[in-house]
Amino acid sequence: MATRSSIYCRLCNETIAPDDDLEHHLVYSHKPRELAMELASEWETEELGDAV
Ligand SMILES: [Zn+2]
Repeated sequence: MATRSSIYCRLCNETIAPDDDLEHHLVYSHKPRELAMELASEWETEELGDAV
């Protein structure tokens, strides 16, 4: 049973079914604003390093 590593959506903390597509999930389950906020916080964290 070589299960493929399932994709994990960081926005809703849900695993995406292997036969589903993360991009599809993001587009249809999340608003662009949600995605932008997630990306922004992620990049800001990178900029700041571990100083949180
Ligand atoms: Zn999601």
